[in-house]
Amino acid sequence: MIARTDRTTDPALLQGLLQARRGTAFFARKLNELSDADLDGDSLLPGWTRRHLTAHIGYNARAIARLVEWAATGVETPMYASPEARNHEIEFGATLSPIALRHLFDHSAVHLNVEWRDLPEDAWHHKVKTAQGRTVPAEETVWMRTREVWMHAVDLANGATFSDIPEPVLEGLLTDITGAWKTRGTDKDLVVKVTDRGLTFGDTTSDFPTVVTGPLAAVVEWSAGRGTQGVTATGHRTAATSGTVPAAPKWI
Ligand code: ZN
Repeated sequence: MIARTDRTTDPALLQGLLQARRGTAFFARKLNELSDADLDGDSLLPGWTRRHLTAHIGYNARAIARLVEWAATGVETPMYASPEARNHEIEFGATLSPIALRHLFDHSAVHLNVEWRDLPEDAWHHKVKTAQGRTVPAEETVWMRTREVWMHAVDLANGATFSDIPEPVLEGLLTDITGAWKTRGTDKDLVVKVTDRGLTFGDTTSDFPTVVTGPLAAVVEWSAGRGTQGVTATGHRTAATSGTVPAAPKWI
């Protein structure tokens, strides 16, 4: 029998699915506000038009759906055959007609949602592998999609801002980003302070830290490499002249 509602009953997972669905709806709204001609315009990502970004979001849903199918069937189906195949797919997708591009987004999102909805309770714990080679439970696919749809809605560059992203998603992003810095050791002497949440991340044991400070949305925007609006910095990484905010270490 086909379930009409989620088969998982885990409250945290259901909450996560809600954020992913809200993010997908938000991306859809921003995409629908763009005319077909607007799709040719630049996104906030260097070298990518809005066409590339929309294709990426569509193919990302398909890739994540493959992981959910893997969890459901036990048959290994990777997100992408290779990094080159992923990039090639995006380049191809960017050449699709506007209507095909919009269908790609819509259909892939619906398909992923059905895969999530119908995944049996225990299969959510089955292990799958991300494009970066991390082994994670299928539950993780929800967050993988959540951060993509929310952040790339901002990258569409037609009015969405980091302030539109729900706080739990912003906090999750900041945890991911600062965690990636720590893993690579690129956060030496760098501390990030979130003024409106009383949160501190980064190299908190440093004696001479550069401290980047701001409200949550602005700090995440900076950390994700998307500008310095709304944050200030003190310490040695700043330019001596004006306290210019340094660029954040690379995230992905
Ligand atoms: Zn992405």
